[in-house]
This record gives sequence, C-alpha cells and structure tokens, in this order.
Amino acid sequence: MPAKTSRTQARELLFGDLWEFDPAPESAPAHIDERYKLFIGGRYVTPKSKKYFDSISPRDGKKLAEIPHANAADVDAAFAAAKQAFGPWSKLPGAERGKYLFRIARLLQDRSREFAVAETLDGGKPIKESRDFDLPMAAAHFFYHAGWADKLQYAAPGRTLEPLGVIGQVIPWNFPLLMLAWKIAPALATGNTVVIKPAETTSVTALKFATILEQAGLPPGVVNIISGAGETGAAIVNHPDAAKIAFTGSTEVGKIIQRALAGTGKKLTLELGGKAANIVFDDAPLDQAVEGIVNGIFFNQGHVCCAGSRLLVQEGVEKELVARLKRRLSTLRVGDPLDKNTDIGAINSKEQLAKIKELVQSGIDEGAEIYQPSCRLPGNGFYHAPTLFSGVSQSHRIAREEIFGPVLSILSFRTPEEAIEKANNTCYGLSAGVWTDKGSKILRMASALKAGVVWANTYNKFDPSSPFGGYKESGFGREGGRHGLLDYTKLA
Ligand code: NAP
Ligand code: MG
Repeated sequence: MPAKTSRTQARELLFGDLWEFDPAPESAPAHIDERYKLFIGGRYVTPKSKKYFDSISPRDGKKLAEIPHANAADVDAAFAAAKQAFGPWSKLPGAERGKYLFRIARLLQDRSREFAVAETLDGGKPIKESRDFDLPMAAAHFFYHAGWADKLQYAAPGRTLEPLGVIGQVIPWNFPLLMLAWKIAPALATGNTVVIKPAETTSVTALKFATILEQAGLPPGVVNIISGAGETGAAIVNHPDAAKIAFTGSTEVGKIIQRALAGTGKKLTLELGGKAANIVFDDAPLDQAVEGIVNGIFFNQGHVCCAGSRLLVQEGVEKELVARLKRRLSTLRVGDPLDKNTDIGAINSKEQLAKIKELVQSGIDEGAEIYQPSCRLPGNGFYHAPTLFSGVSQSHRIAREEIFGPVLSILSFRTPEEAIEKANNTCYGLSAGVWTDKGSKILRMASALKAGVVWANTYNKFDPSSPFGGYKESGFGREGGRHGLLDYTKLA
C-alpha cells in the first residue's frame, strides 16, 4: 500500500469519521420536584401571586417542573425576612458565619452528582461540565469565602469592614448554581443577608439549593430565594430595603438597572456581556492554541460571558491554524447533554437558539465564510452545530455582537499593534486570551488589552481567589478574591 494512502487512513481514523460510542447516560437521580415553592424566611411558601411557569428541559424540549412566578408582594416578604435576619446574622462572630459556609460547601460536595444532573437537565450543559466544573467551583466558592469570614480584618488592614445590609441579587442562566455561589458566598461571609432571583429558564438548582441551606441549619431569612421573570428582578432592584444590587446578565438589562439606581445611594455591581478576543501569534504552540480556542468558545455551548468569541490570528499561521481547528471541530461530540461523552450539549432555550441562528444568518448575509462539521443533531430539544466564520471583518455583526452560542468569528492581524487595536475595538472589556512563546509579548499585550481578565496560553481558567469582572460595557465591580469582598462591605 503506498505510504500516502496509509497516512490518509491514519488521518481518517484520527480525525475523520467519529468512532461511534455507545450511549453513556448519567443515571443518578436529579430529585426534581413537580412544582417548587419560594424560599422565604427559612420556609417553603407558595407564591402570593399564585402563578407558576414551566421550566423546559432544552435536552428534549419537555416540561421539567413548575416554577413559582413571584410578584412584588412576594419580593416584599423576602426583603422583610432578610431585614429581620440581618441584625443577628451580622453580629455573629465571623468564625460562626464561616461554619455555616463550610457546611454549605460540604453539603454541595455530598450532593454534587444530584445537583449536576439537575443542572444539566434544566440548562442543557454537558454532564461532564456540570459535574467537573460547575459543582466543584460552586463548592470552592463557599469554601474560599468560609475561610474569609473570620479574617475580614486582614482584607483591609487598619480599617474595619462592615456589612451593607440586605443585598438584592439577580443572576443569569448560563451557570445557574455557580453564579448563585458567586453571589451568596461573599455576601454571607461579610455579614449581609440576601434576596436572590435565578433566571427564568434555570430556576431548578437555585430552588433545590434551599434544601442545602435547610440541611446546613442556616438561620431563617439569611438567604431568600425568589423565582420569577424580569419584573420580579426589577422588583428586587427597586426595593427600598436593598442596600446593594449585585447583577449578572446582559448589558441591556444592566443599563436599565444602573439608570434605576442612579441617585438612590444603593451600591451596585454589574457583571455584563463580553466579546473577547483570543489572540494567536505566529510563535504560539498551535496545537495547544487549538485546544484553548475550542475551550474558549465551545465550553458551555458558548453561553459564557468571557467566551473567546473573536479569534485574532496572525496572518502567517492563519491557514494552518484554521485547518487544524476545522479538523478538531469534526471530533467534537454534539448531542444529549446527559451523555458522559458529550462535548457540546443543548442550547439553553428556544429563544436563545433563535437568537444564535439569526446572528449566524447575518454572518452569511454579510459575506463571511461559514464552516460547520457534519454532525447529527438530536431531533427534539434545542441544538446548534459548532460553527466557524472566517473572513470576518470588524464591521460584521458577528464580530461586534455577543452571540452567546457555539459560534467563532475569525479575523487576522499582522502586527501586535494591529492585534491590540482590533481586540480593543469593542464596547465590551471582560476578558482576552494571548497565545505566544514570548513572555515579554504576553506582558505587553496584557497591559494594552482593555479587559478585566487576560489569560496567557490558556483560556477560561477560574479560581475563587482571583477577582473577575469587566471594563467598559462589561460592567464594574469584581467577584472573587479580596476585591470581591470589598464590594460587599463598607469601610468603617
Ligand atoms: P438577562 O436577560 O439580562 O437576564 C439576567 C437576569 O436578569 C435574569 O434573572 C432575568 O430574569 C433578570 N432580568 C431581566 N430583566 C430584568 C429587569 N428589567 N430588571 C431586573 N432583572 C431583570 O441576561 P441573560 O440572557 O439571562 O444572560 C446572558 C447575559 O449575561 C449575557 O450577556 C452574558 O454575557 C451575561 N453574563 C455575564 C457574566 C459576567 O460575569 N460578566 C456572567 C454570566 C452571564 P429572567 O430570566 O426572568 O428574564
Ligand atoms: Mg430550563
């Protein structure tokens, strides 16, 4: 057999048709209730509104549970409970508050399989991500902040940190339980109490989290969990008893909130959208860069605020990198998020899928070149193939707007100056990636890029001790680390 043919065969084995795997569905029970209640003042209560909506599983489009739709009266009740709990909670010695946080962290670890399955069923993310990322990270946030609770005097040497009061928190659907942990853990460690609302499409794990608080014996009213729609979020934001609003979500809603809070004296932190540049220089290790690019944009179906959604590649390696990227894309397994081999699961909702498709169509209409590997998408549920666009120009919508889906826009550059110019040419500034062999280039790029987080020769790495947050229209304030603590306190 000629050498060329055997090479081609080997290549096909490696990169060609995917080997069929037998289905490997995760089988642990998720213990999802048919109908949930609100968690207010340490009790499960039916909403005063008497209204419910369905949570749909994007995996198959079927109804998963009924979620209470809280109204302004429910929000009032939650704030009253949080206000009552604030006095005793804030006066507890830090070490005592820390014990509750340690307990919550351990309980999350104990029940991580159950919560991972629930998160995947409700939100559509691959089980290997909810199991290996969302749950361990959520627990890590509670552990980390448990450690701070009795050491706050070291967070601001020579000064005393005081809690703010009742914190209103509103979170998005892409990392439901993890965003809840990012919000609740620092608030509690610093002595505040909380009213929190999960996103409409992913309320299940937040409402299940109430059972963890109950198991941990957290005093009633310290955390109140309220589900509902945008107007429920607005009722939290505008509640007169909120000392601070912590919001993670879209820039559009962030702007509405900032306008609503202007002049009220309430503290505000906003974690909003992004359109990060992942920059690959011609001296970068290309295979590693390919893995980082794939992780940067296809992790969690691209529903990631800091996703590396704009690939900037230096001209000399563009052809080779794109070829390797296409090959790698053909090995990604798209499908049932409950299957342990799945790399790309379901798109969170029908609405989000429609938004992604609309933006993809705009890319085609504006003249970019689309590439999608051949893959069979499940017939039911909401799915989208991993997508690359090459020949993208800076004016294209797919280079400017946050797609929040598994879609990568590829642009090229010649010099570091051009890379900086293009990377910063966005209204956002949450994150960026740099791939190069040279440490000096990394340092230069990191200081020139207007982004809250810059990863070098890696992407999407998180740690509770590392502050996360944006520049420009990606918001302000930090979550995680000492900076995150300071945003939940005032200096006495
Ligand atoms: P979204 O529409 O802004 O919703 C976020 C949350 O706000 C949801 O709980 C939503 O409730 C609620 N909400 C809607 N309208 C509101 C209003 N007028 N007042 C108060 N609350 C309101 O965003 P999303 O579509 O869920 O999430 C995707 C966005 O979040 C992306 O832009 C992404 O980049 C961003 N994000 C940022 C970070 C970060 O750390 N910077 C992290 C994750 C996500 P309903 O669900 O009921 O509408
Ligand atoms: Mg859902």
